[in-house]
Amino acid sequence: MKVKLVHLYPDEMNLYGDYGNILSIVKRCTWRGIDAEVVKIKKGGKLNLADADILFMGGGQDRSQQLITDDLVSKGSQIREAVEEGLCALTICGAYQLFGHYFRTKEGAELPGISVFDAYTVGSDDRMIGNVLVDCTGTFKKPGEAQPVSAGKGYLELVGFENHSGKTYLGENVNPLGKVVYGFGNDGTKTWEGCRYKNAFGTYLHGSLLPKNPWFADYIITLALKHRYRSDIQIDALDDSVEHSAFNSAKKRAMTAKTTHL
Ligand code: GLN
Repeated sequence: MKVKLVHLYPDEMNLYGDYGNILSIVKRCTWRGIDAEVVKIKKGGKLNLADADILFMGGGQDRSQQLITDDLVSKGSQIREAVEEGLCALTICGAYQLFGHYFRTKEGAELPGISVFDAYTVGSDDRMIGNVLVDCTGTFKKPGEAQPVSAGKGYLELVGFENHSGKTYLGENVNPLGKVVYGFGNDGTKTWEGCRYKNAFGTYLHGSLLPKNPWFADYIITLALKHRYRSDIQIDALDDSVEHSAFNSAKKRAMTAKTTHL
């Protein structure tokens, strides 16, 4: 079997090693004998999502976002159409913000988004930084959908690291990714983190996210395989003992951190 990943703006949008998410998906496919092809699309590059299964875009400082926003907008309708048809997308922080309607920086510059997510972001004087723990139980419970295997406790948690001034507000036509257990989350009120629309995900969790959250990496791989082969595909479990110990140490940091607005 095969999956094709398209990596948008690998140079400009890659904060806190977000590229590690690509490495995690490629490795977890390769370990299962699944061929994983990665196509990097730089600013000005031609985007072709016709046979893509996963679209990935990492985070970036306000300045990096300003550098690529016009190019992203030029690709927006193609990305929206592909998401409507089930393309799996993972967008981290600055990318998440630009997949909404707009990101207004704290200096007042309004960066247009591509409205994959019914959400908008406003920059603030607060810098929300720290380790995060999110409970996704319920976000993934769809009738008949296999419940991804969590990191051991029987419910679904995500750990990661956030660093953003932007506060994201979700509209009606999008769901949160999960509930904040520790950390600031979308808008700094420590309630909801990230978002999900169909098979597209936005999150503030750097880290990088997937290596420490293997259940979510496998969930994305499964969505990608279902998208390519249009059938219900289950993938074998891997030995995730190293990943789970990384998860548990990140979870401990989130639980002991003092989350204060800086
Ligand atoms: N520049 C955006 C903000 O500060 C996103 C930062 C990021 O991608 N970590 O909110």
